[in-house]
Amino acid sequence: SHRIMLGPLVAAIDQGTSSTRFLVFNSKTAELLSHHQVEIKQSFPKEGWVEEDPKEILQSVYECMERTCEKLTQLNIDISNIKAIGVTNQRETTLVWDKETGEPLYNAIVWLDLRTQSTVERLINKTPGRNKNHLKHKTGLPISTYFSAVKLRWMMDNVDEVRKAVVSHRAMFGTVDSWLIWCLTGGKSGGVHCTDVTNASRTMLFNIHTLDWDPELCEYFGIPMEILPRVRSSSEIYGLMKICSSRKSGALSGIPISGCLGDQSAALVGQMCFQDGQAKNTYGTGCFLLRNTGAKPVMSEHGLLTTVAYKLGRDQPACYALEGSVAIAGAVVRWLQDNLGIIGSSEELEKLAASVGTSYGCYFVPAFSGLYAPYWEPSARGIICGLTQFTNKSHVAFAALEAVCFQTREILDAMNQDSGIPLTQLQVDGGMTSNKLLMQLQADILCIPVVKPSMPETTALGAAMAAGAAEGVSVWSLNPEDLSEVTSEKFEPQINTEESEFRYARWKKAVQKSMNWET
Ligand code: ADP
Repeated sequence: SHRIMLGPLVAAIDQGTSSTRFLVFNSKTAELLSHHQVEIKQSFPKEGWVEEDPKEILQSVYECMERTCEKLTQLNIDISNIKAIGVTNQRETTLVWDKETGEPLYNAIVWLDLRTQSTVERLINKTPGRNKNHLKHKTGLPISTYFSAVKLRWMMDNVDEVRKAVVSHRAMFGTVDSWLIWCLTGGKSGGVHCTDVTNASRTMLFNIHTLDWDPELCEYFGIPMEILPRVRSSSEIYGLMKICSSRKSGALSGIPISGCLGDQSAALVGQMCFQDGQAKNTYGTGCFLLRNTGAKPVMSEHGLLTTVAYKLGRDQPACYALEGSVAIAGAVVRWLQDNLGIIGSSEELEKLAASVGTSYGCYFVPAFSGLYAPYWEPSARGIICGLTQFTNKSHVAFAALEAVCFQTREILDAMNQDSGIPLTQLQVDGGMTSNKLLMQLQADILCIPVVKPSMPETTALGAAMAAGAAEGVSVWSLNPEDLSEVTSEKFEPQINTEESEFRYARWKKAVQKSMNWET
């Protein structure tokens, strides 16, 4: 059979909240050659709790790798052309496992989980002036249920197996990147326990200025430093793939894992936002707007986070970003499907909402996990308001889409105020951007154009770029002049500013009603 001649290929594992993907790119053209995707089960064992099974996550990675390898073989593409693998992942989601047995000691506590609300309240109450920004000067983050340290603290306080493993020096903590890299490089027989600066910057244990774990922060949360992974740059060889030859993905053994970025950082890289001031918004389970602020961390005055954007090589400087995080975006679509049953699939939402083209005065604040940026209010809860006898499921569907757009408007406003230079257009990506109605609504509500790349897998692309550019791999140049042109689709605002402002003002009223729900 004929083998197609190609340049070096680079693969990426994209382990998101709702699904896992494995993708293979041509490093010369950034073209996506083949991929496979598997959904991940989320469990909600109690109100506010969100968990995933670490073994299922790992299994889904193996399955995606196997199926992608099969597809490549069918395309006559030689798997040995893959020169590097990058990892990108849902951030903050917290895991603890036993380094001797290799077994997870509890389910992964997903970033959206609210079980630590009382822990967070206790911590805030004991800080001077009850200031949730008490640790912000070091971490860039407010004390919140969102970040890993409180989830890890909860596991150590409430899960016997975790406590015992910590005491007997067998525990390893990690976010999903660390779990996967450890398992894929050999696990209990010599796996590499590491993370990168972007993932570390979401734990609340990491000093974003010194780029290292911070003993004072670890003490604050009572976390022993020996259970933490080693922090590396986002682009360097961490280890080689070690997969049992009986597995179909065994052909990937020996390939270096050389890129690691939290999903939002990876999307920033994949969208080529390398310049100070460039920004992107990703619409997945949640919604995350990141704006590159260059070599210096900028502290927000308007409820945004300061985070490490990337550090592309051991000897490269770190780049920082301001981030507006919205907890619930695509998750509201899944909720309409699974909990209310008013749509059969996420694709049906667009048709249903488009059939009315208005929410008819209905506003939906999906504060299922409290409100993140710019409010950071864990006690907020979801509301649907402005209902009349005329309201039907199509209006609610429309209001759900608008909610995503209004939440983005709020973080964009905060971002513009913090930086003093308004964005003139918004680069977007993520699973929800396949919804054209959403994209048009977003342009209307922001009153600026929304630009979507034709290749939607920018998160995976960013991880592949980091992996391909690593020292010792060097098949992908990150020099902006060498990067391939991206084609894109543009959505221009179509309604007048007055109407847009009117609707936005109503939304803000609805948000006020969703807050302080429990008091
Ligand atoms: P994640 O990385 O968080 O797993 P993805 O970027 O894969 O998320 O996007 C998946 C999310 O996008 C899901 O929550 C899904 O409900 C939503 N989604 C996918 N397609 C559509 C669509 N056509 N309209 C609205 N939402 C969609």
